[in-house]
Amino acid sequence: MTRKAPRARDEPRREPPDPEALLARAAEVRARAYAPYSRFRVGAALLGDDGAVHVGCNVENASFGGTICAERMALGALVAAGAKRVEAIAVVGGAREPAAPCGLCRQMLRELVRDGSVVVWMRDTKGRTRSATMDELLPFAFGPDSLARSKASSRR
Ligand SMILES: [Zn+2]
Repeated sequence: MTRKAPRARDEPRREPPDPEALLARAAEVRARAYAPYSRFRVGAALLGDDGAVHVGCNVENASFGGTICAERMALGALVAAGAKRVEAIAVVGGAREPAAPCGLCRQMLRELVRDGSVVVWMRDTKGRTRSATMDELLPFAFGPDSLARSKASSRR
């Protein structure tokens, strides 16, 4: 009896992310944003490693510091659904140019992206679209691997 060669990694084969489908989900949830103060509505859609799309919209608060962005809302939904990694990101918002994730959201997304090559697609309300990788949006990022290296080097 011949033995099957073991697979290099036991990861399920995934379809490549479909930016248009992801952007459509982000546009859909953008319509439900709660933005009475800025009137700057944003929707975000994240493709998780579970194959599902997790969405979020910005939710503002009269106490402005309590406001949460669409990207972080979607990230929370992804974690709550049991996914472990973000495979692709779409953000819809902005009238003059596609809105990019703010600094805080870039840091939060960096925590759970598969790696720095994960693409962020951004589209404004006029349909202008641009994209960038997480590494381009957050170069020299501080992430979970930074802490792992720190622990290892402190044991010397
Ligand atoms: Zn943000």
